[in-house]
Amino acid sequence: MRRNFRKPFGASFRSSSFQGSRSRRNFGRGRSSGGGGYQKSSRINESMFINKASENDHILDYVAKHKFSDFKIEERLKQNISKKKFDKPMVIQDKAIPEILRGKDVIGLADTGTGKTAAFLIPFIDKILKDRNQKILIVAPTRELALQINSEFMDLARGLNIYSVAVVGGAGIREQIYQIRRGINALIGTPGRLKDLANRRVINLNIFQNVVLDEADRMLDMGFIVDIKFLLGQLPKERQTVFFSATLSKEIENLTKDFSKDPVKIETKIRDTSSNVEQDIVKISPSESKIEILSGLLAKKDFKKVLIFARTKIGVENLVDALKDKGFKADSIHGDRNQSSRQRALKSFKEDRVKILVATDVAARGLDIPEVTHVINYDIPNTYDDYIHRIGRTGRVNKKGIALTFIGGKSHLRKSGYSRKPIRNYN
Ligand code: ADP
Ligand code: MG
Repeated sequence: MRRNFRKPFGASFRSSSFQGSRSRRNFGRGRSSGGGGYQKSSRINESMFINKASENDHILDYVAKHKFSDFKIEERLKQNISKKKFDKPMVIQDKAIPEILRGKDVIGLADTGTGKTAAFLIPFIDKILKDRNQKILIVAPTRELALQINSEFMDLARGLNIYSVAVVGGAGIREQIYQIRRGINALIGTPGRLKDLANRRVINLNIFQNVVLDEADRMLDMGFIVDIKFLLGQLPKERQTVFFSATLSKEIENLTKDFSKDPVKIETKIRDTSSNVEQDIVKISPSESKIEILSGLLAKKDFKKVLIFARTKIGVENLVDALKDKGFKADSIHGDRNQSSRQRALKSFKEDRVKILVATDVAARGLDIPEVTHVINYDIPNTYDDYIHRIGRTGRVNKKGIALTFIGGKSHLRKSGYSRKPIRNYN
């Protein structure tokens, strides 16, 4: 056995060295927003990508204090929750729903894939049911995530005479304006499109007494903060504000305080990454080719549904081409593809028509794709937080997942025009 990935995740484990890892480490390729300069990879600590999924400190051991039936929410909403086959609240729901129902501002921190969306949707839908004047604004960093939140909103609000619209870039704005004018209870969007609609005076942000920032640390990071300040600045001062994320640095947490009043912090995380994800590295020597090693892995039986992250849009395209040349069926998501093909690619992957999806970090945040068996970091992420979000696309809701990070090796994929310069990777 030549390479460590052939070993059954044994020999290369150094879980103990993993324990010391902390969020917000910078792996040496620019800053957390994906921009910034290039630094030598010698600062990368490989042990951070190695961790055995643990059954012991499993969040499942937590016994929810409430049943959904205990919450003081409308009966019709409870019925919609059962229709989604949510038997009992997940930990973050158990703790956050009562606080949001009480009208508190909340900062909710919980691992990837542990039900944060319903933790804010359920209490806010209930708030609308109790007072039809209430309107909710939900802001998310990517188009796909905004659309996904809207789809969960529609499930939970089905038959309740509550209407939501997702407003994202790259999709026809006229239809979105038409929907908004028909009357809405909730608006879910990306910062850019929301700002555009506010500037066109299609929406008056003053009517939203409730706001959710999902993936809060990303929303308050450099790339979005100007837009977020603009949006929050136009909301009423008297409002309920909630933030949710799997990662939140001290710096950004301080910023949340500027936008909220006496927030309750609810934290259910026990360590940096979800304990459901088994993590290992694949070391590649300078003479080996990453694409050869990748195809070797993808040919294996247990690599059933694989999400591969590359650093740049062109890197993603080149990798998809190379995989197709090798006979694999693969699709891609990145910021240079138009929105309808991005949506189509995601749908085919979700529905198992394509088993390999290659993406930039635009797919790293929030996406809930069932049964992803493996996340492969073909290129190392910019920051440790980006890593946490990428690998959080597998091992969701108590399922086990595997994350592999390629270390070293040449990509052998350079075409003319390939740029080493990191492109802002969240678009
Ligand atoms: P997060 O935002 O924490 O990453 P999501 O809100 O995307 O997680 O939820 C992950 C998955 O868990 C979704 O498919 C969601 O439908 C499902 N889910 C949410 N709440 C429950 C629950 N109480 N019981 C079972 N499944 C749930
Ligand atoms: Mg989420």
